[in-house]
Amino acid sequence: MFRSLHMKLVMILVLLITSLMAVVGAFLMTSVTNFYIDEFYTQMNEAFSDASFYAALQTEAAQEDGAQRLQALLEIYAGLLGIDSRSRNYYILDADTGAFLAGSDEETGPMLEQTANILAARNGAVGSQSDLSAAFMDVAVPVSGGDNHFIVYIRDNRSQVAELNNELLLIIMQALLVGLLVSVLLSFLLAKTMIDPIEKLTEGAERIAGGDFDEVLEVDSTDEIGILTTTFNDMASVLHDTLDAVENERSKLDALFLHMTDGVVAYDGGGKLMHCNPAAVALLDRAPEDCVYAELFEPICPFSRVMSMRRGDYVESELSVGERSVELYFATFSDEEAGGVLIVLHDVTERRRTEERRKEFVANVSHELRTPLTNIRSYAETIRDANGDIPRETENAFLDIVINEADRMTHIVQDLLTLSRLDSGRTEMVMARFAFGDAIDAVLRSIALEARRHGHELTCAYPDRLPTILGDRGRIEQVMLNILSNAVKYTPDGGHIRVSAGASGETVWMEVADDGIGIPKKDRRRIFERFYRVDKARSRESGGTGLGLSIAMEIVQRHNGTLSIVDRNGPGTTVRLELPVRQGQEAGA
Ligand code: ADP
Repeated sequence: MFRSLHMKLVMILVLLITSLMAVVGAFLMTSVTNFYIDEFYTQMNEAFSDASFYAALQTEAAQEDGAQRLQALLEIYAGLLGIDSRSRNYYILDADTGAFLAGSDEETGPMLEQTANILAARNGAVGSQSDLSAAFMDVAVPVSGGDNHFIVYIRDNRSQVAELNNELLLIIMQALLVGLLVSVLLSFLLAKTMIDPIEKLTEGAERIAGGDFDEVLEVDSTDEIGILTTTFNDMASVLHDTLDAVENERSKLDALFLHMTDGVVAYDGGGKLMHCNPAAVALLDRAPEDCVYAELFEPICPFSRVMSMRRGDYVESELSVGERSVELYFATFSDEEAGGVLIVLHDVTERRRTEERRKEFVANVSHELRTPLTNIRSYAETIRDANGDIPRETENAFLDIVINEADRMTHIVQDLLTLSRLDSGRTEMVMARFAFGDAIDAVLRSIALEARRHGHELTCAYPDRLPTILGDRGRIEQVMLNILSNAVKYTPDGGHIRVSAGASGETVWMEVADDGIGIPKKDRRRIFERFYRVDKARSRESGGTGLGLSIAMEIVQRHNGTLSIVDRNGPGTTVRLELPVRQGQEAGA
């Protein structure tokens, strides 16, 4: 009940009413007293100015028993003078001594003090000075008749005015009491109409501060409080929408941070880790709590240097983590004191590898072309310098080498062109459905002679009816031929080459196993790279370019298949080709 604002309201009303009553009371009481005093002196003045009354007084005074005569007269004129013997009395005094002779108040008469007015009358003047500070009002009029000199002294002890004032005070006190009661009631009414809505507003504000936007405040009136409540509801709704939008943006950012492939690490102004997304954890290969700036980045770009940068500026650098190359971008994320450092990590491992491969490829191409060119040039020079001075057979042998080397170069250039076309997607695959077994048969027939030439035993084991597949038959046969001719090439004469094939689920497969020189484990992964050869001399000897398997891999990948070296113990190599029976949309259908 005595809530602070309510209490204040009650206090204000009580103070207001009390002070109002005090002022009104004081004013009323002073007015009443003044009126009474004025009334007294006016009445006295009027009475004693009355010539007949004064003459009668003088006549009576002239008598021998003047005092008694005067008393009798004054008794008659008591009404004119307002004498009631209670609050107002008359006294007849001796003008010389001021002693009491007779009067309406025999009791206190003899004990009358000599007031200023009595003293004035003893000196022969009318004493009608009003003394506000005195507890009485008096008038002393000298009356002489013959040799007798008296003073008619009228004295009012103000008991009437005191009584009146007491009554007034009582009324004021009662009014005050009623006023206080009214003020308490009024305060409740005011509390209901003013404080309650304010309290509701306060509760609403507290709820909003706590993040609860569900409840809308009721608007009970159209006054200022009603307008305030409406405005408050509007404000809460706008705030809710804004917070929703901010939250939305934040969750979008969170999702972005979480799923982006680039790493993001943020440090506050003190160098403490604030944020580290999963990509950054993976790129740096350490737990977020171990991503300490001083350890990881200080040697690359000092913290103080980044902090001193302007917004929009950034520093670019690179960091190697294990086999990975990570590009780093350092920037500040705020100019304010509360700012910090933001580092974006971009994985450039693949780019670097591609660059490396490209450089290697160019070097390889140059090298591969230079070797036959050097040979052609040297043999051609030898023939020219000999000036026909060499045996015919030798010359022919030299010319054969020149032709062979030219063929080799043509081979390389053709292979490179094929690869380049495959890379750029310019090679159209002529897709058609054909029997996988028929393709194997055809390739086996074309390699049979070569195998026999090397004394290899070529065996094959696969079911009669293999599924048909959708693909470019010519290209698939090119892949098969490459695998088989590699087996023939890299198996010492008189070896065994076994071709097997089959179908499992939605795929068909073919394996070519030989008992040749084999491929060391470390090289297996790399033999599909361009120009990669385990034994360069041997490959070159057998007319290899080191591009065959790369081309084969490209073709197989264009058919959504796989080409791999089977991890198998023992001598020799087993190459496995796997192709899907259906392609793309066909598989979906
Ligand atoms: P190349 O024209 O040199 O044969 P490929 O791309 O066809 O080029 O083969 C790449 C390398 O893989 C070869 O140089 C060879 O060292 C190795 N290789 C491929 N097949 C076999 C195999 N059946 N046995 C041993 N080594 C092989």
